[in-house]
Amino acid sequence: MKTLGLLGGMSWESTTAYYQRLNRLARERLGGQHSAKLLIWSADFAPIAAMQAADDWAGATTVLVEAARRLEGAGAEALLICANTMHLMASEVQAAVDIPLIHVADATAARLKARGAARPLLLATRFTMERPFYRERLSSLGVEAVVPPEADRERLHAIIYDELVQGLFEPASREAVIEIAERAIAGDAADSVVLGCTEFGLLVEPDDFPTPVFDTTEIHARAAMDFALEAGP
Ligand code: GLU
Repeated sequence: MKTLGLLGGMSWESTTAYYQRLNRLARERLGGQHSAKLLIWSADFAPIAAMQAADDWAGATTVLVEAARRLEGAGAEALLICANTMHLMASEVQAAVDIPLIHVADATAARLKARGAARPLLLATRFTMERPFYRERLSSLGVEAVVPPEADRERLHAIIYDELVQGLFEPASREAVIEIAERAIAGDAADSVVLGCTEFGLLVEPDDFPTPVFDTTEIHARAAMDFALEAGP
């Protein structure tokens, strides 16, 4: 089994979900006492969120690139950025190391295509929904994602930054996320839902939605374990 390096803490709420999923996958696949071989770098999220809000993407890139190099130096054989938003600097992170970066959008596009989802609704931070980096990556892999209208994007962004990354999981916010998806699906804008924020899986369940749901945390963790076990245990 290869050692995976997790760029985490963005937020730690979802890094714990990655940690659990990867370990459970290792147990599922190898059985018994097996668990995942992991190195975790976990950020203090407040300064990163401040850089995002201030549009200081160069500053955030510097932090992530340095962390990626440290994980590589410590023995990681592949990297995961445990957040969709921070894939904005995925190419800079990949260029800074000699080990592969397992890209969340690549894994998600592969799953969407395998399940025949043609027009997924992307629910995420404003950065992920509005900046081209994520939708273009999906599109280059043959998946055309749609995003909710402006007011819904603002609500989702606020739920993520004011609640989820702070460990607050409110029933009203859960209802709001479901309602945003239901509206898009009823209006025929989308045929499936991508939970494109790694904390969303902590708030909603796939069964909450009337269409197939793609949880990027689950998909990303599974792709990473596939890589870790490629050459056998
Ligand atoms: N974890 C989130 C994501 O998947 C949001 C926090 C962040 O901006 O990194 O995008």
